[in-house]
Amino acid sequence: MKNHLKSLGLVVLVFGMFSCQEEKKEVKEVAIETAEVKQNTIKSILTAREQANMTPDEIIGRLIKGNENFISNNLTQRDHSAQRRMATIGQYPKAIVLSCVDSRVPVEDVFDLGIGDIFVARVAGNIENRDIVGSMEFATAVAGSKLVIVMGHTQCGAVKHAIDNTDAKSMNMLALDDLLKEIKPSIDMTEKTGEVSSENTKFTNTVINNNALKTVEDIKKQSPKLKQLEAAGKIKIVAAVYDMETGRVNFL
Ligand SMILES: [Zn+2]
Repeated sequence: MKNHLKSLGLVVLVFGMFSCQEEKKEVKEVAIETAEVKQNTIKSILTAREQANMTPDEIIGRLIKGNENFISNNLTQRDHSAQRRMATIGQYPKAIVLSCVDSRVPVEDVFDLGIGDIFVARVAGNIENRDIVGSMEFATAVAGSKLVIVMGHTQCGAVKHAIDNTDAKSMNMLALDDLLKEIKPSIDMTEKTGEVSSENTKFTNTVINNNALKTVEDIKKQSPKLKQLEAAGKIKIVAAVYDMETGRVNFL
């Protein structure tokens, strides 16, 4: 009996040593992978020189490439601690994006960007107002960004409620009522194919496109400075729509 127990103990010991070696191997492999990830990690932020050397079209190209990374679930690793410390010196973002507030549209991730890369302004329905246009003037004329993007998105609740004539006023949401009114002209300018309802996906998506395009036009009307910078070829003001299902940003 004793001998039997002894040999059982030996088997357990050998097996234990074997699995321990396996674990060590796994730990080693993970360490190598982590080291590889760390080597590819972005630790710096955009410099004034990098910002100055980019044209608006090159920036659009980089954003499209970043969006491809997002779609393929291959976001760049970033050392946020290092970037945060570096960013205290200053910022030289390449673009300003006006997005809806929707929680399903993570703007930096969508373009595979991080600290110091872009300005982001957000308001339900991505409409313009004076404060937002002022922020765009700052981002471009003062801080050197070369691109203004108005980015709508599919499944936009603000646009859907505007289409469905939701009566926010009767629910005492007077500010929301004013906001929905801002989206109405985009509905009026959209060709009525079928029912005017958010259930009509084709119509709703056309309104979403038109709303982003109209905001671009409104921005140009509101800001002689932005219009002038664009006419001089120093910046571009463009509309885009984020497709929630595919993750793709389609520039209009
Ligand atoms: Zn929205």
